[in-house]
Amino acid sequence: MHHSITPQFEALIGASRLDSLNSHPSSVYGLDSGLEISYLNPAWFKFAEENGNKNFSVNEWSLGKPVLDSIPDLLKSFYTELFESALNAKDPSIFSRHLQYECSSSELYRRFSMHLYPLGKDGFVTVHSLLVEEPYLTLPREGLIALDENQYIDINGIVRQCANCRRIQSIKNKERWDWIPKWVNEPVSNTSHGICPPCLHHYYLSKALL
Ligand SMILES: [Zn+2]
Repeated sequence: MHHSITPQFEALIGASRLDSLNSHPSSVYGLDSGLEISYLNPAWFKFAEENGNKNFSVNEWSLGKPVLDSIPDLLKSFYTELFESALNAKDPSIFSRHLQYECSSSELYRRFSMHLYPLGKDGFVTVHSLLVEEPYLTLPREGLIALDENQYIDINGIVRQCANCRRIQSIKNKERWDWIPKWVNEPVSNTSHGICPPCLHHYYLSKALL
């Protein structure tokens, strides 16, 4: 599958983490110390193919483009602070920041979570997952990604959660890890803990941190 990466970022990210993110079904992009786009994984291109230009300008998303060009003016200072906190993380192995954002199309109300994985002062990786919520009863919205427990609770009643980022593994597609705020606030009693691939590489296998 197709991905895009600068030579500098390839050296920064390391081969085994790159392999892992290239096969991860969540969209991933990497930014360098100048907040320029330095890596886009295959899942990002798949999402762009399905949603690009209606929701965002794919042309703004190529290597070397400043990511802030794609962020609305009102949010630029917020994102700058967030991204700089990843670049300035004193100890990337304990850094943990994530946020939720909306990326809707005319047909679909859709929100995502973004998790940040610092790689030192030269860059960081962001992993984007679908946000799955219970529908707002007072405000039904067409296309809301509603929580369907059958997608996440296995036949033994067990939910599998990443011990680091707290995303929940889909049982229909085990490669998928989604962000379910309800179960982060109130964990299901039968929760077993695992590690999702980006966290496995970031916290346990990454040579970049040694
Ligand atoms: Zn994780």
